[in-house]
Amino acid sequence: MQLLLMGPPGAGKGTQAAELVKKFDIPHISTGDMFRAAVKEGTELGKQAKACMDSGKLVPDEVTIGIVRERLAKDDCKKGFILDGFPRTVEQADALKKILDDLGMKLTRVLNIHVPAEDLIERAVGRRICKKCGATYHVKFNPTKVESVCDNCGGDLYQRKDDNEETMKNRLSVYEASTKPLIDYYAAAGLYTQIDGRQPIEKVTDDLVRVLSSVK
Ligand code: ADP
Ligand code: ADP
Ligand code: ZN
Repeated sequence: MQLLLMGPPGAGKGTQAAELVKKFDIPHISTGDMFRAAVKEGTELGKQAKACMDSGKLVPDEVTIGIVRERLAKDDCKKGFILDGFPRTVEQADALKKILDDLGMKLTRVLNIHVPAEDLIERAVGRRICKKCGATYHVKFNPTKVESVCDNCGGDLYQRKDDNEETMKNRLSVYEASTKPLIDYYAAAGLYTQIDGRQPIEKVTDDLVRVLSSVK
């Protein structure tokens, strides 16, 4: 299955991708995670991405498309993949089509997790991530059993630098202007399904799995 998980920042893409990885055993490819790893390692890519990420702007298409092309060419993607956070512009979507054509692949389904704008700032500001295993929590909606300690691995939690109200406002307007047009793009391609992301996490997963069981 070649899946694309779409949705505004904080909609629950990463949370749901982690569930789908467990169920379908295919790699989760998050451009945001790849950029954060590069920033942490201090690579050239990380240097290029950092300022954009900190202000809530998109990393330039040339940079982003290149890392996705490299990643999708790896062997583990032959059994399928879950793309999360890419494409975010029509140019990226056109590039993805070309990359997949070259690899002899095509998208199975595009799943959009729909959450209204008024919920998204609270979701992002309360998001906490495990330093060690990357598990995602929320201080109110999905808290750890022991405060600030990861349920999975006992690691410490951190808050993303861009998960503050001001940067989120920029990210949401970038989403409206650049990424939302992809809804029509993939609807026109007959690939689009919308899921109600306002439900509890488990219910959203159930809906995603239900849709996927009928398209396999
Ligand atoms: P969220 O899950 O909250 O939407 P991500 O982790 O996907 O956030 O992205 C964090 C930041 O990384 C974005 O604000 C942007 O700066 C950069 N980024 C991630 N994916 C892309 C992309 N496909 N194109 C351009 N920039 C991206
Ligand atoms: P994205 O990858 O789309 O930016 P995340 O999966 O990181 O979003 O989720 C953003 C925040 O919202 C996290 O703190 C997560 O625990 C929380 N969250 C995810 N799904 C739900 C949900 N269905 N209801 C309430 N909170 C959620
Ligand atoms: Zn952990």
